[in-house]
Amino acid sequence: QYHNELVELRGNIRVFCRIRPVIKEDGQGQQSEVIVSLDKDDDGVLYVNSKGRSQTFDVDKVFGENSSQIMVFEEMKSLVTSCIDGYNVCIFAYGQTGSGKTYTMEGTSLDPGINQRALKELFTETSSRLDWEYTITLSVIEIYNEMIRDLLGEDTGYKMEVKMNPDGGYHIPGLSYVVVKSPDDVNEWFKVGQQNRATAATNMNEHSSRSHALLCITVIGCNITTGAKSTGKLNLVDLAGSERVSKSKADGARLKEAQSINKSLSSLGDVIYALRSKQSHIPYRNSKLTYLLQDSLGGDSKTLMIAQIAPVRKNEGETICSLNFAQRVR
Ligand code: ADP
Ligand code: MG
Repeated sequence: QYHNELVELRGNIRVFCRIRPVIKEDGQGQQSEVIVSLDKDDDGVLYVNSKGRSQTFDVDKVFGENSSQIMVFEEMKSLVTSCIDGYNVCIFAYGQTGSGKTYTMEGTSLDPGINQRALKELFTETSSRLDWEYTITLSVIEIYNEMIRDLLGEDTGYKMEVKMNPDGGYHIPGLSYVVVKSPDDVNEWFKVGQQNRATAATNMNEHSSRSHALLCITVIGCNITTGAKSTGKLNLVDLAGSERVSKSKADGARLKEAQSINKSLSSLGDVIYALRSKQSHIPYRNSKLTYLLQDSLGGDSKTLMIAQIAPVRKNEGETICSLNFAQRVR
């Protein structure tokens, strides 16, 4: 019934698109004209009126401007809960600043997004599996200028390193993992993470749009009768803004940020594209983001990219870029 079941049959990489409603920041006049439309019959198609013609894009599912947080979450519920069965899952929100990435992932206190809904669903689902005991842990990480920091640790400097293990796996020495048992625990740790992220940032909005926020959830299960164990991971990622920065306009610091973002977003695209086209070499090592997520990208893990769209004329160029990115990884 749910699109997700179809998704499962069709492979491990899916692309959704979510169009945010027009907001007052979009302004008025010609630049605020809506240029994106949905297909009446096919919920995987959208059209962009660009350069005087209609361009068609195919994704797995398009959410229109009236889509609710619940509708969006319902389409990925089974993907989320598959980490209870030992799968590793990544869900990314991709798009320019102001396109609704944070709205989709974090949401608002009255209408939470995927992060909170996913954890709530994991609590519900794990508690219904009576012959298993589960431990759910959280880490909250930020990547900025190819540096990593632990947002739940005592020290939130950009100090964390990814280290290879002798067995080929990897870990982040010193990274905080907190055990959560209820939505209240989750909310408390989210607050800690948000406070730590805001500390030292002179402009929190700008900082968050230039860094990647990763919520890394681990679900460890133990079967009470057989002693069988399982580990699954769910990574929920609010990516840095994908907008191109003009080289002539950017100063030193801004240029460095732009280059770091460009490097990690293009590496992410390259990794997913390499996986999808079954290449033998997957370039995980080209950025911190892909290096850090390598055990959850590829193999039997599952990836969902949500391309966020700000639908007005002013954003035409960025909208086309985001949809081209989405088409490439699909
Ligand atoms: P981003 O994180 O991509 O920079 P935001 O999530 O901050 O973008 O969204 C930009 C603005 O649009 C915010 O004011 C947000 O509340 C609003 N917004 C985004 N998506 C939606 C939506 N689906 N419904 C209502 N408002 C939205
Ligand atoms: Mg944001």
